[in-house]
Amino acid sequence: MTIESTGPVVVQIGRGPTGTALARHLLPALPPGARYLVIDRDPGAARLAFGTPEPTHLLNTRAGNSSLNRDDPDEFQRWLTTRAESDPAPEFPPRALYGRYVRDVFDHAVREARAAGVVVELVSDSAVRIGRDGARTQVHCASGRVLDADRVVTCLGMMAASEPYPELVGHPSYFANAWPLPALPKGATVAVIGTRLTAVDVHLTLAARWHTGRVLLASRSGRLPRVRGAETTAAVPHLQRCVQLAVAAGTLSLADFGRALVADVEAASVAPPDWERILAGGPTTRGMLAADLAEVDTGVKRGWQQVLNAAGPLCALAWQLLGDRDRDEVLTRWMTPILVHGAPMPPPTARRVLAGMDSGRLGVLAGLRSVRPLGRRFELVTGHGRQEVDVVVNATGGGTDVAAMRSQPLVAAMLDDGLLTAHPLGGARIDVGTFEPLDASGAPVRGIHLVGDLARGAMLITNDVGALVAQAAQAAGAIRAGMAATVLSRTGRP
Ligand SMILES: Cc1cc2nc3c(=O)[nH]c(=O)nc-3n(C[C@H](O)[C@H](O)[C@H](O)COP(=O)(O)OP(=O)(O)OC[C@H]3O[C@@H](n4cnc5c(N)ncnc54)[C@H](O)[C@@H]3O)c2cc1C
Repeated sequence: MTIESTGPVVVQIGRGPTGTALARHLLPALPPGARYLVIDRDPGAARLAFGTPEPTHLLNTRAGNSSLNRDDPDEFQRWLTTRAESDPAPEFPPRALYGRYVRDVFDHAVREARAAGVVVELVSDSAVRIGRDGARTQVHCASGRVLDADRVVTCLGMMAASEPYPELVGHPSYFANAWPLPALPKGATVAVIGTRLTAVDVHLTLAARWHTGRVLLASRSGRLPRVRGAETTAAVPHLQRCVQLAVAAGTLSLADFGRALVADVEAASVAPPDWERILAGGPTTRGMLAADLAEVDTGVKRGWQQVLNAAGPLCALAWQLLGDRDRDEVLTRWMTPILVHGAPMPPPTARRVLAGMDSGRLGVLAGLRSVRPLGRRFELVTGHGRQEVDVVVNATGGGTDVAAMRSQPLVAAMLDDGLLTAHPLGGARIDVGTFEPLDASGAPVRGIHLVGDLARGAMLITNDVGALVAQAAQAAGAIRAGMAATVLSRTGRP
């Protein structure tokens, strides 16, 4: 079928939550006759965050805080209320439901755009290379199809982390990726590498399968995510003042930001905060988790949580103002407490983890040192000593170092072709105003935009729908402005 189009051609690669938020912001701005092609190899695949069929894998953020529309924060809550099987709808619905919402929003945006005369084409394929020919860009697909574009925007999601245990690859009981988790012998002792949300999901999957063997979540810190409390916010006057001064000065020191954060958390806390517990304090014991849940259940306001709830936009701005050394310190020294508190688990998930601990089947180990093959089994060495396990599952999540980027053929080709350069703190360097990648000389590669985890080093928070929706809206604005400037320069008319 030949599709007639007369306007600009935009190719979007990836239609997860980020791509959907981008499309819904960009499509209404396109003139009739414009062409919008969306390539995705497998939207909603079970290996993706919102493709999981497991009903106990819950959205980590409250439904009321998970809208894909910045201008309509209740959109997902309303969508959910009409579809959920329970009344009231769950605060933390299964992630599969969120996946359906993402698809509905995308389909709606496409229908509206088509009705307005934009030619939208959905392409089931893998993009493997982006070629440049003067001002024109071509997207090459695995099938051999080549799509011409005026603009390309990539929303590729997380990339596979580089393999932490190359010596285990090929062992029949080592699973380098937690998804999909194959059937395991019911009584097997399973070591899960990682103690964050993906590792917790592995426990939930095994519990749902009535696994009877022990499940050991092991990491260096041994810290589980804290439990998500109320969404109330605290005043953050110290942080506001600190960031205001930094904006005026054009630079921020991590020490100043840290002092302001501590002052706001202390001011918002009923009792003096337990800094030892907040900053170090692993492994998470049964008692710590139970106390955390009890706090949340009784509705006690926790200063650290209220400040974090309020400070997201200030943190995003602060990241842009910190120098390279301070940013490096955030990633190497403070990332564990940031993730433990900044990506907490929903209370229903925490209750399932507690039940696992109470049954004696779930353990959390800190001081992970090594995992080695031992015949058909493995030797796991942690701060708790040495133990033998039957199965090892890597649940450490995605990565953004060069090796991780090279695991995506499209990103590897962009690196090789000079369209991307690695950011020293992860992902690719971008112009944070336009989301265009920077080449080796530091110049923006015009007409290409990167949104999502590939921009991690530049944006810091790229693993949370709320932050990604904000970034997609910002990128859509920059793309619109870029297209308007192109029209003006070609025709002399806006
Ligand atoms: C287990 C898990 C649970 C999570 N839970 C939450 C949560 O509860 N709340 C939250 O806010 N965040 C959560 N996250 C983080 C989550 O990954 C992101 O919030 C969200 O999925 C990011 O959306 P995205 O569109 O950027 O990426 P994705 O959802 O990964 O979508 C990327 C899309 O791009 C496509 N694609 C990639 N490369 C190509 C290519 N070369 N060619 C064609 N198509 C391509 C993929 O098929 C995919 O459809 C979770 C992550 C994981 C791993």
